[in-house]
Amino acid sequence: AGASFSDFKTLEVLGHGNSGTVYKVENKRTAAVYALKVVHGDSDPTVRRQIFREMEILRRTTDSPFVVRCHGIFEKPGGDISILMEYMESGTLDSILKTTGSFSETSLVHVARHVLNGLSYLHAHKIVHRDIKPSNLLVNRSMEVKIADFGVSRIMTRTLDPCNSYVGTCAYMSPERFDPETYGANYDGYAGDIWSLALTLMELYLGHLPFLLPGQKPDWATLMCAICFGDPPRLPDEASDEFRSFIGCCLHKESSKRWTAAQLLTHPFVNKDSGLDK
Ligand code: ATP
Ligand code: MG
Repeated sequence: AGASFSDFKTLEVLGHGNSGTVYKVENKRTAAVYALKVVHGDSDPTVRRQIFREMEILRRTTDSPFVVRCHGIFEKPGGDISILMEYMESGTLDSILKTTGSFSETSLVHVARHVLNGLSYLHAHKIVHRDIKPSNLLVNRSMEVKIADFGVSRIMTRTLDPCNSYVGTCAYMSPERFDPETYGANYDGYAGDIWSLALTLMELYLGHLPFLLPGQKPDWATLMCAICFGDPPRLPDEASDEFRSFIGCCLHKESSKRWTAAQLLTHPFVNKDSGLDK
């Protein structure tokens, strides 16, 4: 509180997103390290609307250990907006996947438990993330996994208008986002995050997206056909029964049949004693 942009020294660039650049910064006085996302004021109205939505969500989600914490938002007269966040030392699950090739089931129990806790918190606060994928899940030094990036999230005031919700990355999108009439009885948006979580876990396990061959570039038409007309993806037989059952509970094509985050937290897969954490 009371901090301003000039209290921080830039250490390095962490990455570039659609809406701006993320820097690693240090508080000049306390030497504490943070991540600072800077969105330029002259960016187009869609990006600005997105960042204001993200700011509103970040203001409402400051008390979950499973959501990347926002420590402040600065607005400069020129119109630049910066979001000061907790720094996640180990980067995204996507970058970890690129270096490790794949994740063990044991580590995925840990990932699933963290993300489900985050989703259950968000959904209880009427927030649908809408862009759950490996590059939006950040990991800190203690290997805690947290949900980040609320650029396309929604605060649910009424039920969501599915036709007006075409955002996010289509590879992780649920069938009802493409075709609400067929797959979206009682569509409320929350179940879409569950579908995306399952695809994320499958990608981390297999090393590639289940709808695509290793190395194949995702294209919209291939994915849309696979998601809407194909059977839901399944894990290979090598995966444990608990893991395959868990994925099955998440990947019902009909959104109302999918388990909720709170229900999935009781599933045997995430209650296996991984020996890593509880
Ligand atoms: P998009 O604009 O589509 O969301 P993106 O997810 O890549 O794209 P950002 O969320 O702005 O964009 O983040 C860009 C990159 O910065 C991330 O991929 C990640 O590597 C890094 N990053 C973001 N937030 C943090 C953080 N809190 N701690 C450490 N690194 C971060
Ligand atoms: Mg992102």
